[in-house]
Amino acid sequence: MSDIQLLPAVVEFLARPHGHFIDGRYVAGEAGRSIDIHDPSSGTIVSRVADASEAEVQQAVRSARHAFKGAWAEVSPYQKGVILNRLADLIEANAEELAQLETLCSGKSINLSRGLEIAQSLVFLRYFAGWASKITGQTMTPSIPSFGTERYTAFTLREPVGVVAGIVPWNFSVMIGIWKIASALVTGCTIVVKPSEYTPLTLLRIAELAIEAGVPAGALNVVNGRGSAGQWLIEQPQVAKVAFTGSVPTGIAVGKAAMAANLTRATLELGGKNAAALLADVDVDSAVAGIVQTAYVHQGQVCASPERLYVHRSKVQAFTQKLGAALGQMTIGSALDPQAQFGPLANAQHLEKIVGFFERAKASNTVVCGGNALDRPGYFVEPTVVLANGADDPLLHEETFGPIVCVLPFDDEEQLLEMMNDSPYGLTASVWTNDLSKALRLIPQIEAGTVWVNMHTFLDPAVPFGGVKASGVGREFGSAFIEDYTELKSVMIRY
Ligand code: NDP
Repeated sequence: MSDIQLLPAVVEFLARPHGHFIDGRYVAGEAGRSIDIHDPSSGTIVSRVADASEAEVQQAVRSARHAFKGAWAEVSPYQKGVILNRLADLIEANAEELAQLETLCSGKSINLSRGLEIAQSLVFLRYFAGWASKITGQTMTPSIPSFGTERYTAFTLREPVGVVAGIVPWNFSVMIGIWKIASALVTGCTIVVKPSEYTPLTLLRIAELAIEAGVPAGALNVVNGRGSAGQWLIEQPQVAKVAFTGSVPTGIAVGKAAMAANLTRATLELGGKNAAALLADVDVDSAVAGIVQTAYVHQGQVCASPERLYVHRSKVQAFTQKLGAALGQMTIGSALDPQAQFGPLANAQHLEKIVGFFERAKASNTVVCGGNALDRPGYFVEPTVVLANGADDPLLHEETFGPIVCVLPFDDEEQLLEMMNDSPYGLTASVWTNDLSKALRLIPQIEAGTVWVNMHTFLDPAVPFGGVKASGVGREFGSAFIEDYTELKSVMIRY
């Protein structure tokens, strides 16, 4: 097992001083304000970025507002699609560089950075590009009485809301960044993106590529910084919409701040404690393979992944035994090593949080497998399975956002539904069965934004995605995103 060789372009990019990307060019941050970027596989510092001041955030918003009223407004819908497709081509041409950069700051396996983070970002970007010339209003005939010969007609316009504040978490910075950038640009909005302080490098490089693709200066800006930079961004009066992805507590604070700022509209894609139900007829081997693939991908740091598994009592023993055996065989190693099947957690703070969950599980639960941090540099832990102590076990209710799955048996469907819905969250859920009629009966009763059958965690640009309950407000993808990035204007005409 060994790490891949870094491309010279990656080595050169890491060594650069990184500030912000505003109005089509790099802007150095203020002296003395910087953030170290660590490689999660080794814990060493690989680069540094600026930590934005409020003045820099304001500069980025001014630049976005200028482009919204000017250069981007002048680009036709068709041409907007052409430019976004060109950006996709440039990302594809620089895919290996972007994948390496992403792996270096997020700890995502290089295979996943290449095959999912970058490859799927292209699929999403090209899907969004196709919407550019298809955003339309409606016509209607008002029923206002006519006392003479006058007639009435009416129509609606879908107008871009303006400057979008895109706030992105550390787990999929390119993909989640692209969802927001593409949604904004394709609807005619402009955007200021604030990546997570842990994973800021790839979006800076993408902003450079956007200029090469023909996105006018100011239409896409990136400001780096901590949570405070996100907060300043939301508070700017010229920000018309906040598109936030992150944790529930931060999301609630962001939603309140947006309302307080200017009644600013906000879409919030938040966390979850996603349930998977393995029914009595489930094929244990394929369910084990499916859960390994979807609950432990990127070390479980995926908002849509299952963390609560309700398994029919008749299958619990076989399932947990086989799941533990499969996880025990996984090769743990550096994220830059293509042979490694399981890499590090994304940052030291998250490692500490996950170790806290391990300690609680070891004190009160049966740990089927895993439950330990690895004694090596970097932020490595074992993939873990825990048996819950009944439906009220706190481990079944708190999002870990890590590689910890908690299993509880169930006996009948009524009890299953009660337990699945006993959560403040409602992002995703899945039902694993060979009996589709059973799955179809359960689906309408499950409180989640997305329900999968015999799969979990997979997203597609054509299928709307978002949460119910405390998992969020709004939907991304499909055509659903258009409502959130546009304002409806009604026009009535007497003739
Ligand atoms: P956080 O909520 O901690 O941070 C998300 C983003 O918000 C980061 O850029 C962060 O900056 C920024 N931020 C922090 N404080 C503020 C503030 N007061 N105002 C504005 N912005 C702020 O989430 P994580 O980055 O830790 O990501 C993990 C969480 O994201 C998990 O709960 C996960 O479930 C959720 N998630 C949800 C998804 C969905 O689509 N529903 C998808 C992916 C993740 P900084 O990092 O610099 O502090």
